[in-house]
Amino acid sequence: MNYGVYIHIPFCRRKCGYCDFYSLAGKDEMMEPYVDALINEMAARGRIAAEGEAATLYVGGGTPTALPIRLLSLVLQAARSSFRIAADAEITVEANPATVDLEYMTALETLGVTRLSIGAQEFNDSILRRIGRIHTARDTRDAVKWARAAGIVNVSLDLMYGLPGQTLDDVIWSVGSAMDLAVNHISVYGLTIEDGTPFSAMAESGELVLPTEEESEEMYDYLTGKLPPYGFARYEISNFAREGFESRHNIGYWSDTPYIGVGAAAASYWDGRRYTNVRDAAKYIETIGRGELPATLSEQPTRKNAMEEYCFLALRMAQGIEKEAFAGKFGEPIEKIYGDAIKNLKDNGLLTEENGFLRLTDKGMKLGNVAFRAFIL
Ligand code: SF4
Repeated sequence: MNYGVYIHIPFCRRKCGYCDFYSLAGKDEMMEPYVDALINEMAARGRIAAEGEAATLYVGGGTPTALPIRLLSLVLQAARSSFRIAADAEITVEANPATVDLEYMTALETLGVTRLSIGAQEFNDSILRRIGRIHTARDTRDAVKWARAAGIVNVSLDLMYGLPGQTLDDVIWSVGSAMDLAVNHISVYGLTIEDGTPFSAMAESGELVLPTEEESEEMYDYLTGKLPPYGFARYEISNFAREGFESRHNIGYWSDTPYIGVGAAAASYWDGRRYTNVRDAAKYIETIGRGELPATLSEQPTRKNAMEEYCFLALRMAQGIEKEAFAGKFGEPIEKIYGDAIKNLKDNGLLTEENGFLRLTDKGMKLGNVAFRAFIL
């Protein structure tokens, strides 16, 4: 059985104003004990997964590259000794451009990293500062250059739209800059204001001036319309790739592949059950120190929940829901469960059917929430 491994590194140099990921700033003294705990958790989880092979390994965060390379090396080496990693595995590390240099990239390549996901977000320094990023556009350009010089070909950039003070011209400049860097993959995210973040308080007090809905929509239309002619196929709602450079690890999440998440707040999907590790690095270290696994089993989903989740995840992918696979998994044709929803969405141009797959149209992807709501039973 093939599975994916996700390793969460919850450290950042500084918190970005919009971030609600589990990450900690200014806690460098925890890095060493946290890495020790990760190594122990991987050894334990590796025993559980002894039968299968890890086809993908993804180190995310937080900022994995906030770790000194010595500690990140220990993490990657422990992953290799704990899990049977496939010879052709995709091994991704998320990087913040301000935390890497040529030496760091060379070390990553030597450790077998095959793919870098770089949080560029924007190529306008004043917007980067406004959203609390610690890097500049120049840092992003250098990071990509160093990755390539180190021999890492597969490079992805994250780009954001709907940011405070951002205009369509900024987005056009970002896309142009990404094309100049000849990256292979681009993830596109709209800013969302999450409760409990500094941006949420600033939005409430009127301090945060965001683009209007129409302006954000124009940015979205530009990004989603412009990337395909540049050779980036939209293979998932937020992800665009040149042929052969789709993220194999993320495709696993959307296509019912088991995965093991290690580290604070990491999620796992194993034997059809979902688990989440404690969302607190200190408690995580303490629990592992006691020789226990820090995971909580999520409630066993009902058959209805399982069908909904299956459809939500499959609809994110450009290829959509494979009708035969749905029937094979749930023992009933999808039309029997979702006949009305499918008809309504098709009538409104949000869903289409081709070669046994039900997939969202461009309009359906844009109005994703409307389409997903229709699949709630
Ligand atoms: S670098 Fe990423 S994880 Fe860290 S605070 Fe910023 S958005 Fe959050």
